[in-house]
Amino acid sequence: MTLEAVVVFKAWIVGIWFACVFIGERIAPKTAAPSGCGRLLANGALWLIVLLISPVVVLPLTLLASDHALWTRQDALAAWPIVIVDVIVLDCWTYWLHRAYHRAPAMWRLHAAHHLDEFLDSSSALRFHAFEIALSALLRMAPIILFAIPFAHVVVFETVLLVATIFHHSNLNLPAKFERLLSRVVVTPSIHWVHHHAVWRDTNSNYSGVFSVWDRLFRTKSASPRAPDMKIGVEGHSDRTFIGLLATPFTGAGRPRSGGRETRREYQNGGPKSDAPSAGS
Ligand SMILES: [Zn+2]
Repeated sequence: MTLEAVVVFKAWIVGIWFACVFIGERIAPKTAAPSGCGRLLANGALWLIVLLISPVVVLPLTLLASDHALWTRQDALAAWPIVIVDVIVLDCWTYWLHRAYHRAPAMWRLHAAHHLDEFLDSSSALRFHAFEIALSALLRMAPIILFAIPFAHVVVFETVLLVATIFHHSNLNLPAKFERLLSRVVVTPSIHWVHHHAVWRDTNSNYSGVFSVWDRLFRTKSASPRAPDMKIGVEGHSDRTFIGLLATPFTGAGRPRSGGRETRREYQNGGPKSDAPSAGS
């Protein structure tokens, strides 16, 4: 399979999956969606910018990294089955990168546009500031160079991550037992909606992207369950207009009070207490 074919394959898989989830969550929603389509337009517009910068930023940086690996893989390590190991390595990297976006004030400025969304559905998975996407691609060069991850394997990971991200942001009404079983392996909406709860202690938890094991392993799993009426967004902040979202790297939008430095004991006890009133929870 050529590199072009791998990229086209990714676009088809993600496009079809997004359409299925977008329709599914409207047929069987877990939570009543807000009226109006303002946020859908803003999310779509942010996605369009990301689509435009990807071929000129993300793709070249990924190719550059895979072409300048620190070592050359032997045939056995270049074979397709090893893609599973590469997906796990990149997913672990993405977990720590996500934690860094919450911990470092300058990085939170880039990530805030994603969290300011006051409702979640599949479109939230596409709502990222272009600066965050560019920085993530730049920083992801490190594991690609270090582990000599082939370009095609990175594209496979991007496909898996996008499919997972669309799923765990979705408003699909899944059978509780099925979701509980699934959540032991992958991140489900019940896990990720808590990450978007407009209470800092929950915003600073549940960072996993594809596999749910990272939060359990690194003790950042929130003890809070997803509640039907939980307020979504950033504590103490309201959603912005499209222009306001583009400006968040410069204007800021608050930041997790504790900077993501909760202790293991605090997580086990439901997270540190917030000073501000926990709106809607
Ligand atoms: Zn986050």
